[in-house]
Amino acid sequence: MELNTSVELMYNELRHQAAAQFPVNEAEIIDKAFSVACEHHNGQMRSSGEPYIIHPVAVAKIVLEYGMDYQSVAAAMLHDTVEDTDLTLEDVKREFGADIAALVDGLTKLGKVPLDIKDKEEQQAENVRKMLLAMSEDIRVIIIKLADRLHNIRTLNFVAPQKRRDKALETLEIYAPIAHRLGIRAIKEELEDKAISYLDPIGYKEIEDELSKQGKSHKEFLETIKKQINDRVHTVVPDAALEARIKSVHGIYRKMYMQNRNFDEIYDIYAVRIIVNSTIECYDCLGIIHDMFTPIPGRFKDYISTPKPNMYQSLHTTVIGKAGIPFEVQIRTWEMHHIA
Ligand code: MN
Repeated sequence: MELNTSVELMYNELRHQAAAQFPVNEAEIIDKAFSVACEHHNGQMRSSGEPYIIHPVAVAKIVLEYGMDYQSVAAAMLHDTVEDTDLTLEDVKREFGADIAALVDGLTKLGKVPLDIKDKEEQQAENVRKMLLAMSEDIRVIIIKLADRLHNIRTLNFVAPQKRRDKALETLEIYAPIAHRLGIRAIKEELEDKAISYLDPIGYKEIEDELSKQGKSHKEFLETIKKQINDRVHTVVPDAALEARIKSVHGIYRKMYMQNRNFDEIYDIYAVRIIVNSTIECYDCLGIIHDMFTPIPGRFKDYISTPKPNMYQSLHTTVIGKAGIPFEVQIRTWEMHHIA
């Protein structure tokens, strides 16, 4: 009874958001997808013991929150029906049209990609990734698939330990790199952080504790440098946009374990990003940053004059702030930002 209420609550929230985002006829199709999914998943349970329908609703909600179209939201709602229930692709096509049916079909096929985690190295991950991308003629399929994985990994603690490990590893090797490739940072970071929390709970907790212990001073430090940089940059580039953030747990984890460092020795826990209109303004801002702070030798990279193979462009530099705390600065134009 209580569980059904949570499905209802989650769906009402989704419905509310859909009503604000889509015209009535489109929102109605999402509603219909919900009814059909409810009907066909009826009686199925998740490992958590919750009714199965909570999963497609959660996935549809993530897809909606990422600003996807109503077809994607409806397809997310139906994504497991053809694979796991008696609903056929023909039924979906008849009830929802060819576009939504094609998305559901793409998702059903992605679910069938054979993944042998045990003897897989990065090269193989690369192959699987290419396969995944090639298989979907529609990028929306991949985004719904990422939302599917995101919800699954949020709820992995109900799954048996070995399966949990496999899923976490697969997430790290295949899904997070796809999210990265698509430039969806929030999904990439949550996938990585959750995966690490299952693969190395102790190491993960150590970093989390460290971050929360210093939570307030982190915030203060970020706000101080952001204001300092803002003041100077805006005298030269008045409409520059500035972001400052703490890197993800996984980003810090990787540095600690791959470079064998302590938490205190990690350079770029902090990252500042400056976005401007033109390439020349990028170099103007770099000059300002290097004038204000001391750059760390060997940490400056000019990916504007020499873009990465994947077309990525930005200036990267790591500098030392007034309190002796290093932080990374990335500078790029809006165009480079959108490409990234
Ligand atoms: Mn699913």
